[in-house]
Formats: sequence, C-alpha cells, structure tokens
Amino acid sequence: MNLNITCIPGDGIGPEIVREAKKVLDKVAEKFGHHITYTDILMGGASIDVHGVPLTEEAIATAKAADAVLMGSIGGDTSTSPWYKLAPNLRPEAGLLALRKALNLFANLRPAVLYDELAGACPLKEEISKAGFDMMIMRELTGGLYFGERKTVEENGVRKAIDTLTYDENEIRRIAIKGFDIAMKRKKKVTSVDKANVLDSSRLWRAVVNEVAKDYPEVTLEHMLVDNCAMQLVKDPAQFDVILTENMFGDILSDEASMVTGSIGMLASASLNDTKFGLYEPSHGSAPDIAGKDIANPIATVLSASMMLRYSFDLDKEADAIDQAVKKVLQDGYRTGDIMSEGCKQVGCTEMGDLLAERI
Ligand code: NAD
Repeated sequence: MNLNITCIPGDGIGPEIVREAKKVLDKVAEKFGHHITYTDILMGGASIDVHGVPLTEEAIATAKAADAVLMGSIGGDTSTSPWYKLAPNLRPEAGLLALRKALNLFANLRPAVLYDELAGACPLKEEISKAGFDMMIMRELTGGLYFGERKTVEENGVRKAIDTLTYDENEIRRIAIKGFDIAMKRKKKVTSVDKANVLDSSRLWRAVVNEVAKDYPEVTLEHMLVDNCAMQLVKDPAQFDVILTENMFGDILSDEASMVTGSIGMLASASLNDTKFGLYEPSHGSAPDIAGKDIANPIATVLSASMMLRYSFDLDKEADAIDQAVKKVLQDGYRTGDIMSEGCKQVGCTEMGDLLAERI
C-alpha cells in the first residue's frame, strides 16, 4: 500500500519525536511491504520564523492532499518566546486551529491506557489500578457550547453573559457513527455521556445515539450522565471502552482520563473528519524546557502513528505491531526520564526510537 503522509515536526521537542515515529513507521513499512511518502510542512513557531504566519495556504493545501497528517507539537515557552508577543491570530496555536478548521476535523480521539509496567505512575489506589484500563474518549470537536453564539450584555446595570449550546442531529449522528466504528475495532462497547436529565441538547444526543446504535447490533451501548462518568473514571476506569461525548464534556473528561494514567509522554491522540483522513499527534505540548536535549519520550507520537495506521489506513496488524513493540520495550525495562522508575534502564529519545524499531 502507498501511504502519503504529511508531517508537521513543529516546535520544541516536535522534530525529535516525529523523527523517532518515522523511524518506527519505516520499519513497519519494510516489514509489511508498504511504501511511505512523507512531505514535511511548517506550522506554529517554525512557520512564523520563516513565513511570518503560523500556517500558510500552501501548507494547508499540502496537508489536504495527503492521506493523513502526523504532527509533533507546536508552540514555545509562553512567557519568554517572542511568538507570544504577536497578535493572537499570528501565534503558533492559531496555525493548529486553522488546520483543524480547514480539514473539518470534528472528532477527537484520546486513548487512556494504563500499562502494567507504569502502574506506579497511576494516582489511583492500587485496588483500583490493578484492574488496568484501556479506554478511548471520543469527543465532538466543532459544535456545542464552545462554538455557539455568545454575548455579554448589561441589563438594568447588571452584567450578564450568555453562551449557547447547540447541536443538530447531523452533527450528533456523524460523531456517533465514528464512535461505533471505533468500538467495532476495540471491545465493542460504547458509553455515551450526556446530561439528559437537564439539557435538551443531551436528550437529542441520546435519541440520535440510540438510532445509530441500531446499525451496530454487535456493540453494547450504555448511557451515563456526565457527573456520574467523572466519578466512575476514578472509581472503576476498567469498565470503559469507548466514551462518546459532546465537546465540553469531552474536554473535561479526556483530561481527567489522561491524568489517571499518570504518564503524559505516553498519550496519543487523533482528530478525524468524515472520510478516513486524520491528524495524529501526541496529547502533550512541545515541552520547550527539554527541547534539543534528546531526552523527550517519543512513545506518545509513536502511538499516534499507530492510530494513524489503524484509523486512516485500516492497517490493524501493522498498528498492533507498534502497540506490541511499546509494551515489549516497557517489559524489557527501558524508560525515558519522564517515566523512569527504580531498576529500569534510562534511555534518550533516539535510543527509545531505535529500541521500538528493533521490536517491530
Ligand atoms: P507540555 O506538555 O509541553 O509540557 C508539560 C511538562 O511535561 C513539561 O515539564 C515537559 O517537559 C513534560 N513533557 C511533555 N511532553 C513530554 C515528553 N514527550 N517527554 C518528556 N516530558 C514531556 O505543556 P506546556 O509546557 O504547558 O506547553 C508547552 C508549549 O506546548 C506551549 O506553547 C503550549 O501552548 C504548547 N502545546 C501545544 C499543543 C499542541 O501542539 N497540540 C498541546 C499542548 C500544549
């Protein structure tokens, strides 16, 4: 298979971690007989330095022409970098927002996995963490409260702010279909999270999710109120497979789910549109404090590349090979500094990439 991938190394540790992800992808391509073409584009601070803007139209066109985009991270130290003295629409993050919009990425996927070898980093009690967990938060990314009409008015001398939470059935249906499709590739369970006891938008959400579920008889669907879900994530995270939810609930729950893993350098993410196209990137930022030192953990980016193979190219065996290589490297006792524990061998970013590639 020919894989046409646009890469965005970005800023800070971005170029280091993308380099290692490519190393692992190249090994997968060699082993499974695929051909990968990479085209790099600039975004964020790297683009500001060269073009004066965080993303050019040409870069957008290149990304659109690809099958998928693999990204490192963008941005610098927000208190010292000159990029943050620019107008907000010219800062690094504006590039990412513009790209998400141009590519119509409405579905955000964030896995939260507890690896046995890293259980010590999990902040939950051992009696809970020992059951392990492997869940996927599927968050709607372009609708709801963050995109509704908003205004602040003054009525009779009293300031009043109004935000509007709107979803139409098409927006709900397309994310629900994505959620069920992802569940079919996993443990075939969807927990749809809403606030249907209070919100009309949640009642519509629930109704549409029930309709979509009829096309997926193999998938078990349950509904959960968001406040209960926030509790269940720390009480019994092992119960979840795919958590399907709207924009604001997903924003909060996905951060909660990543915190219970305790390992920021291990968390991948994907943003998808209604084709097979996706943007794959680690959940963490550009870590300017450790950039250029060859100590960053490349695993979140490598796991993002695995998600890319699984969800944009349907190459499940190849994605499994990457996921297994990550497990094996941890079992063999290798750790980057951020996940280091006693008795393990500390390695840098490049060596971690080599060790992963060897295990493909
Ligand atoms: P960060 O995630 O970059 O770093 C937080 C802490 O985690 C730092 O101590 C860092 O060294 C560490 N860390 C992060 N990733 C690591 C890795 N792979 N290996 C080892 N240690 C790692 O968050 P921040 O410091 O708040 O943000 C830095 C910059 O990144 C900011 O400009 C921010 O806007 C940007 N950012 C970008 C994205 C993105 O590109 N999608 C996401 C979040 C933050």
